[in-house]
Formats: sequence, C-alpha cells, structure tokens
Amino acid sequence: MHLRVQKEPQPSRSMNALEEIVRRRIAQDGPMSVSEFMALALGHPQHGYYMKQDPFGVGGDFTTAPEISQMFGEMIGAWVADAWMKCGSPERFILLECGPGRGTLMADILRVTKGAPGFHDAADVHLMETSPVLREKQKETLSEYEVQWHETLESVPDDAPLFVIGNEFFDALPVQQFIYQDGRWYERRIGLEGDALSFAACDASAPEMAGLPAPKNGDVYEYSPLSRSIMAELSARIAKAGGAMLFMDYGYDQDAYGDTLQAVKAHQFAPVLESAGDCDLTAHVDFAALKSAALEAGLECFGPVGQGDFLRALGIDVRAHMLQQKASEAQQKDIQSALERLSGDDAMGRLFRVFAACRKDASMEGFA
Ligand code: SAH
Repeated sequence: MHLRVQKEPQPSRSMNALEEIVRRRIAQDGPMSVSEFMALALGHPQHGYYMKQDPFGVGGDFTTAPEISQMFGEMIGAWVADAWMKCGSPERFILLECGPGRGTLMADILRVTKGAPGFHDAADVHLMETSPVLREKQKETLSEYEVQWHETLESVPDDAPLFVIGNEFFDALPVQQFIYQDGRWYERRIGLEGDALSFAACDASAPEMAGLPAPKNGDVYEYSPLSRSIMAELSARIAKAGGAMLFMDYGYDQDAYGDTLQAVKAHQFAPVLESAGDCDLTAHVDFAALKSAALEAGLECFGPVGQGDFLRALGIDVRAHMLQQKASEAQQKDIQSALERLSGDDAMGRLFRVFAACRKDASMEGFA
C-alpha cells in the first residue's frame, strides 16, 4: 500500500531563502505590500540584501558617488564645515550620517575637515546603519576616529545642533505603491500567480495626493512612510537644536506618478520580483515629499539641484585640477573620468539631486 503524502510545492532550484519567506507570508496573510517586500528584501536579519554582504564597487552590484572618487566626500566635507561655521561654529555638535555604506564618505569628510580649526573637537560622530556587515566595514574604514552606531534615530543624541548627511540613503527605504484603475485607487501588492510572484491591485485606502494632476488609468503613486517620518524627525531636531542637513539621491523634484521600483545586480537592471535579497532594490526619492516635511518643521530649504551644479559650486573642478597636478598620466585620466561621472550632465550630474535644509537663523547663502 502506498501512502499518499501531501507535499508542499517544491521551490524551483533558483528560489533563494528570502523568496521562500515571501511566498510563505503571502500564502498565510495574502498579498504583501511593496513596502513590506522591500523591507524584507533589503533588511531581513539573515537574508536581506544589505544584511549579508557589502554590495559596493566594481566587483559588487553598484558604485556610489563616494566610491567613485575622494573628491565627492571632500566637497561634502567642505559643505558641512561651512554650514557649521555659518551656524556660529557650535562647540559641540552631532555629525550624523544616515546609511553610510562602507564609511568612505565619512572618512573623506573627516579627513578634509581636519583643516577647519575646532571642527573635530566639536564633532560627535554618529552613524545610523542597520547592516551588521556594513557596520564592520565602517569600523575598519573609520578606525582612527571615535564613532557611535545606531539602528534608528531614536538613540542618536538630540541635545546639540545636528548636521546630518546621507548619500543614496532615502532610495533604500521602503515605498508603498498605489495604482489607479477603473476610476479608483488600489494598493499595488505582491501576490502569487500560479508559482510566480506577481503584482495585484488590492482594496486599500490611498494617501492624500495634493497637488498632483488627475490620474489616468494605470498611473502608479509611490509613498514612503518611513522616509517621511525620518525626515520629519531630523527636521524637528534641527528646528529645535540648530544645524543643517544635506541629502543626495536620484529622484524627482516635483510630486509625480510613476513606478520607479528597480532592482540592480552586478551593475545591470534585474526583474524586481526575482532574486529578492540578492539584488539591490530601490525607488526614486520623492524630494517634494521630503521638502514639505522640512518646511512643515519650519526649516529653510535649498534645492533640489543637480549634483553637477552643486559640486561645481563647491569647486570640484578646481580640486580635480589640483589633484591632477601631482598625478601620473594614468591617474590624471582617472581623475578626469571620475569628475565626469560625478558631475557630468549625462552621468550623475543631473539625475542625482541634492537637497539641503537648515534652521532659519543659519545663513546658507551661496548654496547652489
Ligand atoms: N551612503 C553609502 C551607501 C548607500 S546604500 C554610499 O553612498 O556609498 C544604503 C545604505 O543605507 C546602506 O549602508 C544600508 O545598509 C543603509 N540602510 C538601509 N536601510 C536603512 C535604515 N532603515 N536605517 C539605516 N540604514 C539603512
């Protein structure tokens, strides 16, 4: 006699541990919001993309501005030192980086600001980072400095002016998606169609979309509650204790519709619902939403402007020229190509946006 054993559907060979978790949750609870999917894909404690590997650089999946050249961090360092001075050079301040990756940007900032008298004595350096692998990397990169790590903003001290920076931080935070169909909004969630993960339109109430044109069939609206709450908290702290913020990211300046969820693996785009946990997953940053949170807290806002204009206003061309003077011919070419990648219109110069805000008493005149 043969006993018939009911087997669970077998995952196909290519399915990774994270996809199994996603499928199990969908089978249990129904379609999953895009934000939950993103949060799991990037931040699941064992299998999340950022939690298990260092994804940056030529051998990794993507290269960020600080990893292209030291010039990027040097310009940001000059900006932070200038902002600190414009705020009256407070004797103690919190220097916070959100999502510091390998720690390269902070290392370049700290190296260049050694030239600003009093800056290092006044700075309490804090990093907000969720990935244990990247924290280890940051520890190595910043071994000569005293640095404190935080999982969330909650434990970052709020008793001194705050100068906060972040490069490609907000694009890693989860977004919800809403889709307009048949005259109404639905939440776009991820369900199972046969054996495959697929998008489904589900009943849910959509957030307010003030200022947007009337939607057309198929329009997608992205909404990031976590980005908004982090921005609101940072802004409230700056409004209260003083300071300034600077964020660089790819995104859009005005509220807009669009599905911008994208996955990248080994410097190539990948299908967003495949290999979750093994590719980077991002959404374009809604700078209009971030800006309105800063304005609501009473901050003065600047930009967003293109990264190229911003870096040129801070003197990146002059810095490149200076570095080239002491360089070999091959190095000169590398510096030139890094300059073009960071600031060229066809590279990161326009697509990447820079947004700054400060308390109204600080004068940031001269910001591009
Ligand atoms: N700023 C770096 C890294 C950008 S990648 C660079 O430009 O190279 C995004 C970074 O944000 C990673 O360090 C990632 O681990 C971190 N991160 C993602 N979600 C986070 C969260 N909710 N809180 C803090 N850090 C987060």
